[in-house]
Amino acid sequence: MSAALVLFSGGQDSTTCLAWALDRFDQVETVGFDYGQRHMAELAARPRILERMRALFPAWAPKMGADHLLPLDVLKTIGGTALTDERAIAMGANGLPNTFVPGRNILFLTAAAALAYRRGIADLVGGMCETDYSGYPDCRESTIRATERALNLGMEASLRIHTPLMRATKAETWKLAEALGGAALVELIVEDTVTCYEGDRAHRHDWGFGCGICPACDLRAKGFAKYRSP
Ligand code: ZN
Repeated sequence: MSAALVLFSGGQDSTTCLAWALDRFDQVETVGFDYGQRHMAELAARPRILERMRALFPAWAPKMGADHLLPLDVLKTIGGTALTDERAIAMGANGLPNTFVPGRNILFLTAAAALAYRRGIADLVGGMCETDYSGYPDCRESTIRATERALNLGMEASLRIHTPLMRATKAETWKLAEALGGAALVELIVEDTVTCYEGDRAHRHDWGFGCGICPACDLRAKGFAKYRSP
């Protein structure tokens, strides 16, 4: 039996990755991280998405295994970002927006790899993407491959980190969701996933809920528009 562990935040990308894994593996577990993010909307979306996924896709439901939530609030303690502190989103002098949480993906992958090791799982799946992204250096293919190598060396393991969205534009991510789960999955992603940096669940757009202004909403809206009218 093949098994995978999906880094599942409750956002559009990781929900698409979850479907991708359910399409390929016999057993799929999920892991999320409570890192002290300012808005709990993403974490609140996780159980809702898992429940709807089970209800809407009977072929996937039996493959869906344990869901894990790990505390990594060291990132909140370190702070200094717009995702962990009450501060406006702004560009830093280094050319990176202050929504960049230094070390986040490396920490997430390390914690996920340790959990996978304990669970006897060799395949990790993450939604990192270096196309249409916010310039985060820890989303790049080179970072992922180097982290995979370090984890395998440090744990004497043979983990594989799959990043099915690495080369996908946001429009292509919507298309992939449609290919995997049809209109029902697209609808679930629109309705239930949270991408917005402000955690806004009050404003509904054709692409889903969000403030409509933050860079994450902007990317999601543009990608959806391009997907609908290529
Ligand atoms: Zn937003």
